[in-house]
Amino acid sequence: MDTLIRCEHLKKTYRNGVTAVQDFTAQFVSGAFYLITGASGAGKSTLLHLLGLLERPTEGVLSLCGNEISAMREGRKAELRNRFIGFVFQSYYLHPNLNALENVMVPMLIHREIPPSQRKQRAESLLEKVGLSERSSHYPKELSGGEQQRVAFARAIANEPDIILADEPTGNLDTANGQHLIRLIKELNEEKGVTVLCVSHDERIIAQGSRLINIEEITCAE
Ligand code: ADP
Repeated sequence: MDTLIRCEHLKKTYRNGVTAVQDFTAQFVSGAFYLITGASGAGKSTLLHLLGLLERPTEGVLSLCGNEISAMREGRKAELRNRFIGFVFQSYYLHPNLNALENVMVPMLIHREIPPSQRKQRAESLLEKVGLSERSSHYPKELSGGEQQRVAFARAIANEPDIILADEPTGNLDTANGQHLIRLIKELNEEKGVTVLCVSHDERIIAQGSRLINIEEITCAE
């Protein structure tokens, strides 16, 4: 299988002096479903932020789809992020002044591969996929937490990412909504070959037969 993400001796020290990730070396192959575990504070979220190019490593090599990112300009990183990565985080970060349909369209406006004439239709079909066709004109504050998470998921996959980075995606969801989201993620992995890296303690996600990465076994915290 192709290596999609390569990490060598990654380290992240925040400005306050906390080293959240220390000496992380791993390769993530295309099409796999990785489950990232480790105690609270072990650096799981930080690792996802590094892999998602949202944070810059203090040391080490990170390459994404064959592109070494350390020397890359912010603009190019944003392009890669938008093209290759879908984020499913516990906080949905939906734009409060945009309705569900418009929120799902946002990534398509940034990454212009999808022609304008197809964007609305595509957003509608994504909302249908997550069972929210009836809610397309609703604003985030008019949606339940589970519905907001599903809109965020539709937005995350709007540009057909190669990688899904998920940080406790079911953390704020009730059982039914959690199951629905897990099904959607699993479906993308199995049917479209999307690589999934998921931080979770949710037994239902753990039961997916994923490749397990325990961050504490790979890194040695200071
Ligand atoms: P986990 O996701 O495993 O709980 P985190 O990556 O959130 O771990 O945090 C790892 C460590 O880094 C913790 O000690 C946390 O307080 C610290 N940390 C996380 N984000 C920041 C930040 N933006 N600035 C400073 N310290 C941070």
